[in-house]
Amino acid sequence: MKKISIVVPCYNEQEVLPLFYEEIQKVMLQIQEEHTDTNFELLFINDGSKDNTLQILREMAKKDERVRYVSFSRNFGKEAGMFAGMENAKGDYVVIMDADLQHPPKFLPLMYNTVLSGKYDCATTRRVSRKGEPKLLSWFSRKFYKIINKISQTEIVDGAQDFRFMTRKMVDSILSMKEYNRFSKGIFSWVGFRTKYIEYENVERAAGTSTWSFWKLFCYALEGFFAFSTAPLTLAFVLGIISCLAAFVMIVVIIVKKLCFGDPVQGFTTLICAIFLVGGLQLFCTGISGQYLAKTYLETKKRPIYLVSETEEDARKTEEF
Ligand code: UDP
Ligand code: MG
Repeated sequence: MKKISIVVPCYNEQEVLPLFYEEIQKVMLQIQEEHTDTNFELLFINDGSKDNTLQILREMAKKDERVRYVSFSRNFGKEAGMFAGMENAKGDYVVIMDADLQHPPKFLPLMYNTVLSGKYDCATTRRVSRKGEPKLLSWFSRKFYKIINKISQTEIVDGAQDFRFMTRKMVDSILSMKEYNRFSKGIFSWVGFRTKYIEYENVERAAGTSTWSFWKLFCYALEGFFAFSTAPLTLAFVLGIISCLAAFVMIVVIIVKKLCFGDPVQGFTTLICAIFLVGGLQLFCTGISGQYLAKTYLETKKRPIYLVSETEEDARKTEEF
């Protein structure tokens, strides 16, 4: 028998979970009709939801033994959710998908067949349009991919998503990357393996609201830069060299000027401009180094990526007693 683990990170998804469960059941049946040697586990990660998500998961786990869940002690973020899902999944294949049906379950049979063909270790979807997304956000996203692919050795594919069907081998490779500052879009590429991209039009969320504000996405983009590129450090270094060269030229000019024309008190404006420019440059470069230092600081603490407060086993136990 082959087992597919479907990992679903959930944060305040009470409205959409029943819809998701209904949809995924249809697809699981469809797959089992074609592949009788396949069974499933549904592994939900409750990422510290403040609504009734956990209660819904408890109910689902009691009724359906394929349903498992891991509930975090607080909100750790989707990255931690995905990591926990992969770590706790028992399947030979692991699928990661959102609860809001933005990752259409109808792709699962195709993804499964793609991986089963033996030609690929991973099947994933790629949005070809950004329909339903604010124009400004799309513009920034495109710029982000352009820049990060210029400055990072790891290819970050535009429109690629966390909706992935992976073999155990690939999942174990991802799990071997224990970094605390996780940027999955980069991690998926970094581990390599043969990946098939299935293109599709963007789908809007079935119910509930997205937790990603513009600011959060901006911070996530910065996370990507700092996690998968050291180019900003090089930039700081290059800026330093350029200002040194400029300073050297200025010193020569000023000395020559003094020797030829004497030393009238002049150049107050130049002086102030130079102080501000160099001061700004210095702060900017220190800031860049600071970012890397902060990341290193967090990594060296070796804090756990997530903490569990409850799993489906607890729920099943209380039912028995
Ligand atoms: N999610 C999570 N933890 C968070 C935020 C989001 O586990 O802190 C989950 C969420 O429940 C959903 C998926 O990550 O299943 C994607 O989130 P969302 O739909 O808000 O993001 P978007 O689709 O807008 O990128
Ligand atoms: Mg969504």
